[in-house]
Amino acid sequence: MYSIIGDLHVHTVASGHAYSTVLENANVAKKKGLIALGVADHGPSMPGGPPSIYFEARGHFPWEIEGVRVFFGAEVDIIDENGNLDLPPHVLKKLDYAIVSFHPQVYSGGSREENTRILLQALSNPLVDIVAHAGNPRYPLDYRVVVKEAVSQGKIFEINNSSFSVSRKGSSDNCRIIAQEIMRCGGELVVSSDAHFCHEIGEYSHALDLLSQVKFPSERILNLHKEKMFRFLENRKENKWRC
Ligand SMILES: [Zn+2]
Ligand SMILES: [Zn+2]
Repeated sequence: MYSIIGDLHVHTVASGHAYSTVLENANVAKKKGLIALGVADHGPSMPGGPPSIYFEARGHFPWEIEGVRVFFGAEVDIIDENGNLDLPPHVLKKLDYAIVSFHPQVYSGGSREENTRILLQALSNPLVDIVAHAGNPRYPLDYRVVVKEAVSQGKIFEINNSSFSVSRKGSSDNCRIIAQEIMRCGGELVVSSDAHFCHEIGEYSHALDLLSQVKFPSERILNLHKEKMFRFLENRKENKWRC
C-alpha cells in the first residue's frame, strides 16, 4: 500500500481554468494528511494562464500554510518544435521547481520522432525537473529514449492521476510503459493529482493501482518519502544557480 505525503502538481485559480486558491488547496492537503504541497500553475501560453509576473513575485508566496510545506513551481508548456518553454530562465530560476508538459491548447505536437526530439530538447534545460502526463496518446513518444535521458539527468516522470479520469483518455497503457521503463532504468517517479479543484488533492487511486499492478518499488516513488522529496527540491535549488 502506497501512502503519498506530498502532491507536487496542483493548480489554483491563477491557471484560468482551475477553481481553488492556494489557501483552499493547503487546507485540503492538511486535512488529507499531506505534509507538502506543490503549486504548479500553468504558464502564460495557456489560454487564461497567469502572466510571467505571477511567478516573478514569488517573494510573497509563503513557505508553509497550516503546517503544510508549500512549494512554488510552475507547469510550463512546450511552445514549439524546438522545445522552447513559456517561461524564460530568469523566471524559472525563482521557482522551487518546474514541470514540463505538452498541451493541445498551446502546441499541437508532431510525429513520435518529433515529439521525442522536442521533449529531449526541453529536458536539456537545466531548469526543468519533472515531466508531466507524458502518457497522453495525443503526443506519442519513444519512452525508452526519453525515460533513459530523464533518469540519466536525475529528472523525474510523473504518473498523473487525472490522466485516468478527467483528462487525456487513453493514457493508461502509456503510463504503464513509462513506469516499466523507469523500473528498467533504475529511476524514480512522482505521483500527482493535477488537481484543478481542491477536493481532487490526495486522490491518486488510479495511478497507484497501475503502479501496484506493475509492482513498482515504493522506495522509488519520490513523494512517499519526506527526505527524498525534499532533497530532490533542494538539489534543484543548488543546481539552478549554476545555469
Ligand atoms: Zn490545467
Ligand atoms: Zn496540470
